[in-house]
This record gives sequence, C-alpha cells and structure tokens, in this order.
Amino acid sequence: MERQFTKEIESLRLGNGATFHGEGILAVTKALLQSGVSYVGGYQGAPVSHLLDVMVQAREYMDELGVHVEACTSEASAAAMLGASINYPARGAVTWKSIVGTNVAADALSYLASAGVMGGTLIVLGEDYGEGGVVAQERSHAFALKSLMWLLDPRPNLSTIVEQVEKGFELSEASNTPVMMELRIRACHVRGSFAAKDNIAPAVSTRNKLDGPPKEFIYDRLAHPPATFRQEKLKNDVRLPAARKFIAQNRLNEIFPGTEKVGLVVQGGLWNGLQRALGVLGLADPFGTSPLPILCLNVVYPLVPEEIVAFAKDKSALLVLEEGQPEFIEQEIATLLGRADAPAKLHGKDCLHMAGEYNVEALVRGLSKFLAQHAPHLDVSRGSQWLKEIEKTKKDAAESLGALPVRPPTFCVGCPERPVFSAMKLVAQEVGRPHVSMDVGCHAFASFEPFSQGNTLLGYGMSLAAAAGVNPMSSKRAVAVMGDGGFWHNGLLSGVASNLMNKGDGVLIIMKNGYASATGTQELLSSPPEDARMIAVGASSVHADTTIEDTLRGLGVKWLRTVDNYDVGAMVRTYKEAMTTRQKGLKVIVAEGECQLERQRRLRPEVLKKLSNKERHVRVKYGVDEDTCTGDHSCIRLSGCPTLTVKDNPDPLRRDPVATVIDGCVGCGLCGENAHAAVLCPSFYRAEVIQNPTWWDKLWNAQ
Ligand code: SF4
Ligand code: SF4
Repeated sequence: MERQFTKEIESLRLGNGATFHGEGILAVTKALLQSGVSYVGGYQGAPVSHLLDVMVQAREYMDELGVHVEACTSEASAAAMLGASINYPARGAVTWKSIVGTNVAADALSYLASAGVMGGTLIVLGEDYGEGGVVAQERSHAFALKSLMWLLDPRPNLSTIVEQVEKGFELSEASNTPVMMELRIRACHVRGSFAAKDNIAPAVSTRNKLDGPPKEFIYDRLAHPPATFRQEKLKNDVRLPAARKFIAQNRLNEIFPGTEKVGLVVQGGLWNGLQRALGVLGLADPFGTSPLPILCLNVVYPLVPEEIVAFAKDKSALLVLEEGQPEFIEQEIATLLGRADAPAKLHGKDCLHMAGEYNVEALVRGLSKFLAQHAPHLDVSRGSQWLKEIEKTKKDAAESLGALPVRPPTFCVGCPERPVFSAMKLVAQEVGRPHVSMDVGCHAFASFEPFSQGNTLLGYGMSLAAAAGVNPMSSKRAVAVMGDGGFWHNGLLSGVASNLMNKGDGVLIIMKNGYASATGTQELLSSPPEDARMIAVGASSVHADTTIEDTLRGLGVKWLRTVDNYDVGAMVRTYKEAMTTRQKGLKVIVAEGECQLERQRRLRPEVLKKLSNKERHVRVKYGVDEDTCTGDHSCIRLSGCPTLTVKDNPDPLRRDPVATVIDGCVGCGLCGENAHAAVLCPSFYRAEVIQNPTWWDKLWNAQ
C-alpha cells in the first residue's frame, strides 16, 4: 500500500470537543463515521483512494464500530453494494474516480436510482477534471441528470464538506434517492480543520445484525417492470419535490449577500478559485467579503427554482460559473428565469470558455468581461494588470525554456514493465510493428518515447476487447497489454472470455506486478502473499502466486507462458513465438515482476535496519565504461530508464555525449539484459557496492 495511515486512523477516533486536522478526503472519511454509516465500499483511483485505503487499514476500529468495509473489484461491484440500502435502514457509502468509475458503475446506479433507497446512500466521486486529470474529460453531472440522483459539490473547506456529507445522508433518506458528492482534486487534498463529533455506531451493522429480509415482501423495491414505470413517476412526482424541500429548508446552498445589483452563481467546488479571482480584481477582502452577491451551489442538482428566482429577483444580471461542458446549470437557470419572467440578463459560457478547467486566470478574465458589461463602475484595473503580468511571465518562460526538451512521463526506475516493452521493440525490428492495444495503468507510459507503443486506449481492462475488431483485419497479430489490476477489474470477462467465446486470435500480455500499482499499490486477488514478499527481498522479484494462470487455464486458454520480465532474452523469444506461431487462439504471456515502487518501499527500511546494525549489505548498481561507449545511445532508446542518461564525453577528441548511469539506479539489471539481447556495445558493467564490508571482503577486494 502506498502509505501508512497510522496518524489518520487515530484522527478517525476523535469525538466531541476535539479538532480534526487533515486533508479533505480524510474529513469525508471521518464524516461518514459521524453519520452512522453501516457499510463502505469502493474502488481505488485518484483523488479519492485515501478514503478507502484509510478504512481498509482501520479495519480493527471499523469492526469495533460494526462498519463493514469492502475493497471492491470494480466500481460496478461497489455501486451494487448500495443495494443494501434499498430495503433496510442502513446507511452506505461508496467511492471511486469519476468519470471513468461512474461509467463502470452505471448499470447498478440506474437500477438503484430507479428502485430508490430507504437508508441514506452517498457516492463520493473523485471528479478528475481539469489540470492534473488523467481520464477522459467529462462531467459526472450528466449521470445525476439522467438518473435523477442528487449531486453535491461542496465548497472546498473541511467544515462545509463534513456538513454536506452528514446532510447528504439525510437528503438521501428524505427523498429516497441516492446522493452523489463530487470532489475535485483540490477539494480532496485541501488541508484544514473542523470540530469533530462522536462517531455513531450504525443502526444496522456487523454487530447489530438484521434478523432477516423485510417482514413484508415489497415488489415495488425491485427495479423491474412494471415497478419501473411507477418508479419513474415517483422520481419526478415525489422524490424530486422532497429533495428540493429538504435542500431549501436546510439551506444546503449558501447566499453571500452583497451591495451590487449583479450576482454570481457558482458551483461550490469552484468557490476557492472564485475567492482568489475576486481578490485579484480587488473585489473581495482576504476573508471573502465582496460587494458582489453570490449564490454558492453546494447542491448542483437538483436546483431549487424558488432559490434561483429569489436570488435573481433584484439583480440586473447574473453570471453562472460552471466548469466543463455542456452548461447544464446555466441552461436550467435560463429555463427557470424564463418561466418566472425574471428580468435578470443571464451570462455564463459567453464570458468563460466552454471546455476545460476554470483556474483563477480564466475566472479573472470571465468576471472582467461580465462586469465590464453590467457593472462598469467597478474598478477592475488590478485584474487587468495581473493578467498582463501573467502573460509576460508566460512569454518570458517560453523564451527562456524554448529549447527545453519535452519530458514525457515514464516508468519508475527499475520498473518491471520497462523490459517487456524493450523486448517488444526488439521483436518489432524482426517481425514488424503490430497494432498495440493499450490499457489503463502504468504500462500506458509505454505510449510515450522511447517505446511509442499503444495505438488505442479504451478503458480499464478493455485492451483485449479493443483489439477484437482490429485483429481479424490485420496481417500481424494485434497485441493487447493489460495490468493484473485491469485483468481483475474487467479484462477477464470483457477481454479473455469474449475472445475465447469468439475463437479469437491475438496476443495478450498481462503485467503481473502484484498490485493495482498506478493507484497506490492496492492489493489484488493475485497479490503475492506476505511471506513471498519477504522472500523477494534481495532475491528474485518473481512471486509464487498463480491465480491468474490458473484462472486462464480454467477458462480454456491453451497457449500460456509465464516469463520473468527482467529476462529480456526469454521475453524476446516468448513474444516472438506468440507473434509467429501457427497455433490458433489467444496467446497469453504473463509478464511477471513485482512493482519496483512497492518493492523499494519494503526494501528501504530493511536496508536501513541492516546498515544501522552495522551489518553487511550489497547493493547492485550498473555503470557504463565511458571509454567503450560509442555514443550512439541505442541503450537509452531501448530502455528509457531515468537513471540511464548522458554526460559530456571526457575524451577531448570525441564530441558525442556518452551514456552514464546516475546514482538512483536500483540495479534491476535491464541495462545488462538489453545490451546482451540487442547485442549492444560492451560498455555496461555490473558493480556490487558493499556497505559495512567484512574483513574477508576487504581482503578479497584488496588491490
Ligand atoms: S508504480 Fe510499479 S508498476 Fe508502476 S511504473 Fe512504478 S514500478 Fe512500474
Ligand atoms: S540497471 Fe539500468 S534500467 Fe535498471 S535501474 Fe539501473 S540504469 Fe535503470
């Protein structure tokens, strides 16, 4: 696991009178316990991974409270867990990265939203949108609209976030509807504090069990026709009005009054950026007091028509600040104002861009444009000056950095996935370049230089399925690459089962590194057992678990090989065979090598302990003999390891820089393997750095 949450787990125990300090997402975790949640599930992914990670590590305390925690194998299984709240007064919460996770969960969510809930349900979405986002840029808002689920978007400060979690459960129960809460990256990681409350032991729990299904069988709780027709009507006729009433009565949205006759309507999640922008424009003091009235929507769906109309009543113009496309909120407000014959002129996407994040710069520009039309008496010249300075900084930076080479993201130093792509690159020189269907995970780094492999990327665990159409039309076998995380998430059924059922061909490479590495090395069904991990210290990184291989064999995969990733020669031979054999059917290579990040996290404390005990420790490091290096850098083009780089040629008669290995080398061995497999110049050497040498080491190595 990426982090130890020892301190955070202690914070979860805080009660009345104590103050919680920490990150936004951990405040959500605490708020769930303060709300008497019965069960929590989810699937890891930034920026919400910590919610589940901390709960998994706090299992002992969760057991004490009677809270069931489940690390689900996909977002679909997490969403389906919420079924526990359809018939029972049990509060449940699940979490995942959106939009991708919400897509995966969509089936269960539709049925859940149709049936409605008795116990409050909260879906915490890591809204991975904008700068730093790593998924397709779409909004979760669309799911709220299509399924009639409510969507919270709280102001990013810990007290508001916690209050919205608590109220979110009440809203869910008052309207029998699942509630989603979107938290952007910055909201998850914003730091702050709030007054803690005692945790509430859940009404229904692992300690306070149900004595059976509901006494009376309620057919209407099944999302099944004809009940679904009634449920659709209930959504609009009963649940929606109930939700609006609750939102208004509990003032979930906040009005910040001002003296001006123009107003701003903002998504809660954009609040901090807006405050900064107003400050830049000279229209807010450091505490956020502004002459501009603001309606902060902590609930972005549903809107409460009376609230919108009342806010607009005495305004000549409104500006809606809504990130992303399309402008769902602006369109709804336009409808509401039109129906109410409200005179306020409505602006939004005409002042700010349609697609992409609303950072402070964008907000300053948009506000300036709006105010120039509707409040020209306000002096916003400070904002114009600030924008000019930003422009100048960008221009200066571009001029100074113009010649800087691009630095694509890449694998960690010593990553076991790098050698596989080196092998694929070598084989491509012989058999030609195949279509490579890439998947979500660390291996996607191979899409960048120096590997440039990966022609499509269609979702987590979807690479083999995405190759199904290409393979029959290709003269060379299409290759799908998938991690073990993706395999268990979706690849086994969407890819392997589908390929076998259709008697497909093609090559599948499964990176068996042992964990869902890209999301923080969470454990999988096939993670190495603890004792096998310890065996790996200082020895082979290969682990013994064969769950993936057994599963594939059981399904009927006939051509199956497991290869040690770092053995590039073996990988080259196996991959070439897979690409060229006459044998029909799916060819699966399980590329085995433990995630180096996780391995180093385990090794480092072990090594430190040895060194502080003055015990002998041998560190392997690779190096380049600068006299032998020809300077053609083929080794770098085959590896891309950040610690294999170049330096000035020490030979005054040669101008090409020579390859060099810098100190971060973890001695994975790829340099030697590549030099051997690709028959490169013999400049690499393997060195053993002995710390705390014995007398025998000293004697043996004496010159
Ligand atoms: S996290 Fe693990 S699998 Fe991912 S790039 Fe780093 S070493 Fe490789
Ligand atoms: S041996 Fe080569 S590839 Fe492996 S960590 Fe060292 S420099 Fe990087």
